[in-house]
This record gives sequence, structure tokens and C-alpha cells, in this order.
Amino acid sequence: MTCVRCGGIMIGIPPLYLLSTDSYSPSGSDQLEGEAWQCVNCGEYVDEIILANRASRPLTAAVMS
Ligand SMILES: [Zn+2]
Repeated sequence: MTCVRCGGIMIGIPPLYLLSTDSYSPSGSDQLEGEAWQCVNCGEYVDEIILANRASRPLTAAVMS
């Protein structure tokens, strides 16, 4: 995973929407329940929800005037 902002290395972290719930616990497993990444260089954060929102945007939005 490469950072879209600075091209730095992004590492996998537990998603914030899982950490925000009291019911979440790793239960002795190192496997992440979800997917999220944070850039070690600039701190950019992305997760499945953010990626889904980006993917749903029309590609023509940038060229509309
Ligand atoms: Zn970055």
C-alpha cells in the first residue's frame, strides 16, 4: 500500500470504527477484523469506508466546470 499523498509506506492498523466500540476485542488473535492503513510519513489514514466513498465518486467530477 502506497500513500496517495506523499508516496510513502502505509502500514496496516486496526480500523478506527472498530476501536471506537466497547464490544471490540482482539480475542487472542493478531488478525485484523477490518482493513485500514496509515502512512508512516505524513499520517494519511484510509480504511474500507474511505476507499468505498472514493470509488463511488464519478470520475468526471474533476473535469466539470
Ligand atoms: Zn503519506
